[in-house]
Amino acid sequence: MFRFVRVQVLYPCQGRCSWCATHRRNPLFLRLHERGIAGAIYDFYVDVISRLRPKEVFVSGGEPLLYPEIAELLQRIARHTPQINLFTSYQFSATTRQGIAVDRLPLDRIVFCHTPIYFDPRRWPELTGDVFSFDEYVDNIRFFARLPARKRFKFIINHDDFVDEVRLFQQLVTPDRSFQLGLKVINDQGDGLMRRSMERTRDLVNERVAMLDALVRSASWGSVGRKAGSLDQMAPLLHHGDPSRCVFAHSPVELRFALDRKARRGRPVLRYRYCPYFPPSFGHRFHVGRDDPAKLERNYFRGPFRRHCADCRFLRYHAHDLGSRSRTSLADLPSPSGPARPPAAPGGAR
Ligand code: SF4
Repeated sequence: MFRFVRVQVLYPCQGRCSWCATHRRNPLFLRLHERGIAGAIYDFYVDVISRLRPKEVFVSGGEPLLYPEIAELLQRIARHTPQINLFTSYQFSATTRQGIAVDRLPLDRIVFCHTPIYFDPRRWPELTGDVFSFDEYVDNIRFFARLPARKRFKFIINHDDFVDEVRLFQQLVTPDRSFQLGLKVINDQGDGLMRRSMERTRDLVNERVAMLDALVRSASWGSVGRKAGSLDQMAPLLHHGDPSRCVFAHSPVELRFALDRKARRGRPVLRYRYCPYFPPSFGHRFHVGRDDPAKLERNYFRGPFRRHCADCRFLRYHAHDLGSRSRTSLADLPSPSGPARPPAAPGGAR
């Protein structure tokens, strides 16, 4: 039913980026691995993916590449989906890199994905704490560039220096046809910490979203493809500001999992959501091993998630105040009796 499923590998990232809240959970991630809880969560992911058979699976972290059993986990996932988008920070030493079992990864299914948060060596120390140098980072990118797998780099369009960043990337990495350029509105990690930056860059984003291809051409990203991704899909929402016409609210596009706060007590508890732009505080809870997996699909149609569209982070870029128009539209959002009827679940699981 969902075209995309996102899962989180709970293995510590060695970077310490200032914008990222995830590395603060490293001790918890380690504990969950030591107690076998992470393993139970990975088994659950594979079960869900084998049932839903999504077009693409997104694997984030932590740092998935550093999980010692990542090759086995990805092989299991690869049996049920044609494409695995694996997110990496490219922040590890050359010695650590040698320990990654790249030869056992299902490379024909993998797209290595990364969002450079300012591809700029001058800002690197301040943004990352310089745990690994900019040169080490670029060296890792070049290493993975040579692997027979696809790579996608998502640059952030609300940066003033977006064009310069893309140009520098081309100079240092010389991407070939195995690369794709993706575009993203903002680095929206970190519990909504970017709210001020969203408001500040609203005009720039609206201007740029209307000319994405031209923007990429101006950065001379010529021979390599641009991925027409979620930003293209979401662009109309910026103009009409009507959540009832949002692709994520209207039909089941995506199911995404992340660790829930309750996991701090050493329990396999996840949070799941149906779009990337919900306020960080919102998500349905799922207790692995206790809850019925059918509720993952059921709640898309019957759960209350659309009520939270009023706090949509993407709509912070909407050119006009949402005001009463949005509230009216929210009442019209699809429900089980509305326009979005549940399709038959894969394998008759409903
Ligand atoms: S929160 Fe925003 S992006 Fe998500 S379903 Fe609602 S309107 Fe769409």
